Amino acid sequence: MKGPLLKVENLVKHYPLGGGIFNNNSLVVRAVQDVSFSVERGETLCIVGESGCGKSTVARLLMRLVEPTEGRVLLEGIDIASLNKHALRDGRRRMQMVFQDPYSSLNPRLTAGQIITEPVENFERMTRKKREALAADLLKKVGLAPEIMHRLPSELSGGQRQRLGIARALSLNPAIIIADEAVSALDVSVQAQILNLLMDLQEELGIAFLFISHDLGVVEHIGHRVAVMYLGRIVELASAEALFANPVHPYTEALIAAAPVPDPTQARVEAPVEGEVPSPVKPPSGCAFHPRCPLAEERCSLEVPALIPIPDGRVVACHVRAPATGVDSQVAQAVDTHASAPYPKNVTD
Ligand code: ADP
Ligand code: MG
Repeated sequence: MKGPLLKVENLVKHYPLGGGIFNNNSLVVRAVQDVSFSVERGETLCIVGESGCGKSTVARLLMRLVEPTEGRVLLEGIDIASLNKHALRDGRRRMQMVFQDPYSSLNPRLTAGQIITEPVENFERMTRKKREALAADLLKKVGLAPEIMHRLPSELSGGQRQRLGIARALSLNPAIIIADEAVSALDVSVQAQILNLLMDLQEELGIAFLFISHDLGVVEHIGHRVAVMYLGRIVELASAEALFANPVHPYTEALIAAAPVPDPTQARVEAPVEGEVPSPVKPPSGCAFHPRCPLAEERCSLEVPALIPIPDGRVVACHVRAPATGVDSQVAQAVDTHASAPYPKNVTD
């Protein structure tokens, strides 16, 4: 099929905060503001950014666990908002999710075998023999011994539980798995094993990943392309190689400079950049990063910078590092983040 596997167009999510129906000015949390990107088949796109920047909200919007305020999500060319309940169920087969905390997302009363075959059983009845064969096959795929089938989640280690979460996501043969902080709760050595497992599965099965993490070290390991989010917006989207070798947005630069060296004895910080993350209820004017930005100029507090393509193919939203020049800024709005990875040449989409 032509076109990207997943295409996200101008997603906006505002959460109203309190305020009754008589209060027209009730406050809103601007969790996601005008986010566009696409994911190709077999690709890993990472979304990275500090806690609260809207990463999980993007994941929830894609899974249609929350409805967007504006924007569209196209999975294999089909707008997921157009799907009725039945079709949505089918659509969800193609897009599965793995969560941060495998313990709270796995039913503690079911055995590992029941947990991983449950999604398939929602679609078809299986004989016990078939169910056990499926469970054994899925366990093997994620590097777990077949005996694990009869154990409860509480009898498994963190890494084993996360493998189980991955096995369950794989059970319906998805085209894409959304992994939201899927390794963030694990020890560094276990993280590496899970990341390697995901990369092996990608090679074997051609699955795409939308891999969400606040941890740049993890992203560098697994991502083909990386989108950096700040306060609800993508500020830079580039191939992982280009991003880490030469960050262009001052926020990306600060994140990379502050990223802790992978060292299990070191606590990971979730807010590595100087200053506080502003509230998404009242984001700063213009570029939301300007109060923390060492390069900020007057213009930065006045106008929201557009995502502009720069010569190496990435897109950057920064008045100083990627200044818009008349026509370019208009084109930029249309171009994007959608062109195919990693060095998009076509500006028509
Ligand atoms: P991240 O995953 O990057 O840490 P989230 O997407 O969870 O960020 O949250 C983005 C912002 O939206 C945060 O300020 C968060 O408090 C807010 N938020 C998330 N869910 C809700 C909700 N259901 N109601 C109100 N605010 C929310
Ligand atoms: Mg989150």
